[in-house]
Amino acid sequence: MKRAADPVPVSAALGPTDRDLLEGVLAAQPRALAKAITLVESTRADHQRRAQALLQALLPHAGEAIRIGVSGAPGVGKSTFVEAVGLHAIEVGHRIAVLAVDPSSAVSGGSILGDKTRMEQLARSTQAYIRPSPSSGTLGGVAGKTRETLMVCEAAGFDVVVVETVGVGQSETAVAGMTDAFVLLQLPNAGDDLQAMKKGIVELADLIVINKCDLDPLAAQRAQSQLESVLPALQRRSAHWTPKVLVASALTQQGIADFWAEVGRFGEAMRASGELQARRRAQAVSWMWEIIEQALRDRFGSSPEVQRELPALAAAVQQGSVAATVAARRLLTLAGLD
Ligand code: GDP
Repeated sequence: MKRAADPVPVSAALGPTDRDLLEGVLAAQPRALAKAITLVESTRADHQRRAQALLQALLPHAGEAIRIGVSGAPGVGKSTFVEAVGLHAIEVGHRIAVLAVDPSSAVSGGSILGDKTRMEQLARSTQAYIRPSPSSGTLGGVAGKTRETLMVCEAAGFDVVVVETVGVGQSETAVAGMTDAFVLLQLPNAGDDLQAMKKGIVELADLIVINKCDLDPLAAQRAQSQLESVLPALQRRSAHWTPKVLVASALTQQGIADFWAEVGRFGEAMRASGELQARRRAQAVSWMWEIIEQALRDRFGSSPEVQRELPALAAAVQQGSVAATVAARRLLTLAGLD
């Protein structure tokens, strides 16, 4: 009979400096938190090794927060909304961390989310922590850092983590893949143009918020009923939660308390059914695979032999003179992956 495998030794032990860092994060010291996140975001190989050991040590202390993803087109009011929700959450006794995944910063080094002075009032609260998007790397890299930062924040005792992203690129999927509740912000007139809406993104949403209802309350209501009428025809993300459409004004704070109550109901329904835990387990496993795939792709692409032979082989496959399987095997062998 086969014996159960011993647990895999997953990380090196923490050095003395990083043990202090761990203690600091667990004690929610702002300096330790900032240091730990800088370590996690660093691309240096030695930093990455230390970061992995730190994350492994933090893991048992993470997982207690409700993780909320917020997306929507630029200008829809995400920052204003997150700030209003954050201030409300703090008022009712929570601590909130706000992180960003910004695909534009991954591509250009610039940032849609990070450049403006954001959430000034929330930033002044001792119960809030706001971290802009890491500014380099691929979207996968940036999103990965955000995932790890989320863990650090949870271990530091933030019981609400908001991950914000702009509604462009693949970032919504990335954010929905690291949060419990995915919230989509829309403008009051967006319901008029359902064709233009990205159906796949709407299907990800657990809550849809029509923001800026102060500008045109009737239009906001119309958008709400239109969305409510199309939702049942879309594929459901969850067996235990029916997506809701809410109306709010981040500017006047109308609907913010209702939104927060709805987040609470979502959390309860998902926890009670076990779906929250299942979602997180599935997210962790697909995250592992994403990291592996990315690493394999990097290794493949960085092989000088592959770089030398790839153009000619790809052309030969295109012309039909070399079979795709033959070319693929040859390239994998060159990369040391076969
Ligand atoms: P983001 O790009 O999605 O983060 O949008 P911002 O939060 O920066 O908001 C864009 C603009 O819309 C700002 O001028 C906000 O003051 C304004 N805004 C945000 N929410 C509301 C709202 O509920 N009502 C109104 N009238 N304006 C809002």
